[in-house]
Amino acid sequence: MERCHVCGFEGDATPIAEAIGAVAGFPGVVGGLLGGTYDGALRRRPSPHVWSALEYTAHTGETVAWYQQRIERVLTEEQPQLLPFDWDAACEQGRYRDLPLTTVLKAVLRSCAGLVSRVQVMEPAAWDRCGIGSDGSARSVAVLVRRAAHEAVHHAQDIRDGLSRVQEQERR
Ligand SMILES: [Zn+2]
Repeated sequence: MERCHVCGFEGDATPIAEAIGAVAGFPGVVGGLLGGTYDGALRRRPSPHVWSALEYTAHTGETVAWYQQRIERVLTEEQPQLLPFDWDAACEQGRYRDLPLTTVLKAVLRSCAGLVSRVQVMEPAAWDRCGIGSDGSARSVAVLVRRAAHEAVHHAQDIRDGLSRVQEQERR
């Protein structure tokens, strides 16, 4: 994974402690952003194809949980084949936009704390265990944790940008 030109996440060059810190810190970041915003703005999409702050938050919680499931398979199976996932469909089916804020924030806390506590008790050698990604290349546990961290960093920025666009629209 290369550096993300949108959010600046350093990709595979990110120190693992920093990646873990980004996942651990995400519930606090979104708690601050969403907790200080009135409910209507949380559910409003800045444009039809850009998710609302609540949708991005719920999505990030689900992706972190999904990465933890992938990590669990890599830790317990021999080079498992990892399958892709349709996140847009999940957003629609999960009706993220109708969920109460407290439900979403609790789910985010559960999934982020779950991933962090799981990797903190791993043997050092476990970081290098690999599964096979949907493109056929090897994915180590370290890479999967960095990808989960990128979701957290990238979507925190999406949420900040989206909320300021929605608030800007409401002032007009
Ligand atoms: Zn990014």
